Amino acid sequence: MRIDVLTLFPAMFLGPLQESILKRAQERGQLTLVIHPLRDYALDRHQLTDDTPYGGGEGMLLKPEPIVRAVTALRGTQEFPVVLLSPQGRLLDQTVVQALAQQSRLLLICGHYEGFDERVRDLLHPDEISIGDFVLTGGELPAMVLIDAVARWIPGVLGDAESARQDSFADGLLEGPQYTRPPSFGGLEVPAVLRSGHHAAIARWRRQEALRRTRLRRPELLARATLTAGDRQFLAQLEAAGPQTSEQG
Ligand code: SAM
Repeated sequence: MRIDVLTLFPAMFLGPLQESILKRAQERGQLTLVIHPLRDYALDRHQLTDDTPYGGGEGMLLKPEPIVRAVTALRGTQEFPVVLLSPQGRLLDQTVVQALAQQSRLLLICGHYEGFDERVRDLLHPDEISIGDFVLTGGELPAMVLIDAVARWIPGVLGDAESARQDSFADGLLEGPQYTRPPSFGGLEVPAVLRSGHHAAIARWRRQEALRRTRLRRPELLARATLTAGDRQFLAQLEAAGPQTSEQG
């Protein structure tokens, strides 16, 4: 997969995307990241990319010409999604992430200051995506969040040890508790079933703990998750047991 990023601050991408799993994905050719300085597409003498808003008001807006010029040049005759990082966009969630991961190429546009001249939206019809109902100073961190989340779904990027399939949201539920060595720590024991070697019993325990945790922390997710008859029976048992204050049953 190739991801192009258009930004006023290319240096922000240097550290976070060159470590660990994303670094390995790029070395193996599974992910190609190309960071484009927006200033390269500002053709005036001063390479101006922002200006004051008409009508007055605080801050600066990104001018439309450099962005439209950049997208036109990068897109050429190819068709692929252009994503505008914006707090006004649709919310990024696991479903959106997995859909984006199906694409062979994406172009991400990072805003800054007060955001974009509206004609960027009107002319490019981008897919506007927000990483949450809060406002950051720029689209660079949201772009990195999106790249990281999408890259995990590119085939081969995660090894078995890091499998995305068991993570929270992959099947609509939160992941349940996990443990590693030592078996006893701080007076707390690792649940015996996890050390039993009983694969079916472990799978059932994990599923039930995922249901228990999701019900306690994010009950609204249960309405959208695909549940088996056994899942529903377990949830009914929890319901019958009355209100829970902890996750230990
Ligand atoms: N004036 C804009 C508004 O009220 O919608 C906010 C601009 S924000 C300070 C500057 C840039 O940061 C945005 O253009 C966008 O690219 C990025 N940004 C800020 N918060 C974001 C979020 N929650 N999700 C995605 N991008 C965000």
